[in-house]
Amino acid sequence: MSKISSWLVRGGGVLAVGLGVAYFFRTPVMLFIITLAGAPPLADQAGIPMAVNEEWVDDFYTVEALDPQTFAISEPRYFRNVYSYLLVGSEQALLIDSGSPIRDISKVVAGLTDKPVSVISTHLHFDHVGNHNRFETILMPDLPGLKARLVEGHFVPEADEHLGRVEGFVIEGWPVAGWWAPGATMDLGDRVLTLLSTPGHTPDSVSIWEKEQDRLFMGDYAGDGQVYAFMPNTSLRSYLETTERLIGLLPSATLLYAAHGAADFPQAPVTDIAALVDLRNGVAALRDGTSPGAGFWPRAHPINGNTVILTDWSGPGTSSWDFQ
Ligand SMILES: [Zn+2]
Repeated sequence: MSKISSWLVRGGGVLAVGLGVAYFFRTPVMLFIITLAGAPPLADQAGIPMAVNEEWVDDFYTVEALDPQTFAISEPRYFRNVYSYLLVGSEQALLIDSGSPIRDISKVVAGLTDKPVSVISTHLHFDHVGNHNRFETILMPDLPGLKARLVEGHFVPEADEHLGRVEGFVIEGWPVAGWWAPGATMDLGDRVLTLLSTPGHTPDSVSIWEKEQDRLFMGDYAGDGQVYAFMPNTSLRSYLETTERLIGLLPSATLLYAAHGAADFPQAPVTDIAALVDLRNGVAALRDGTSPGAGFWPRAHPINGNTVILTDWSGPGTSSWDFQ
């Protein structure tokens, strides 16, 4: 072999190893780049459009009454436009997600109900558990693996479950007061809720179903705009299974409440079963290799006129399909 061809073979080998390493570490590298970019400053309060039943309660939070006992609490100045939901029964109340760690949501909740409040998050990302420790009664879904991780009664999310590092938030654990099993109900007093396991966005994601009112509070599982299916522990396989199950379970009139709003849609983010069908078809197209997508990372795959699924690369062997 000539010197030049041997050099080419070696160079090719080094390049292949380099590309392999870059491929393997793409998610932490991209998250690091997002971290370097930082969060944009809070938006100007004056320019934010409001829903009909929505009002500012201070200079950060708004409250929109979905009905006299159901409130969407949002953070419209924060670029993630987080929504948490307070459901009040005749005896107690449940806060679904506690928002980002930027401010204190407990003061808003105290202004809406004098009933004892429990909190549960739809998943463990920092913008859904940010105020857990401001409440006395913190519930968690009774899912395999979570209970076993308690240390002296406290649960502490792992870095990739929490992701707060991308905006400089430290991980705080919390004491767990109770475990809510998938399929089990919780009665707030004349108001019954069912916990559903809805893995996809994360393996431990749950949704809260209020069957009587045809409502599902589903966190970041789905929604109009962008479906975040590129996170470190997202599974497209789980997305497909969960979506199939929800389509079979939920009555067609069910409204699905998501946890992130859009700047041009001032109401609580809500979608319907038709959007779930589009999601199911979109993920099936990813599985079948008929949805090429666009962009580098995450890849954007349109599923209908107003929503894209954002995925890690979806080829064979990638975490998107094979995680868990
Ligand atoms: Zn999330």
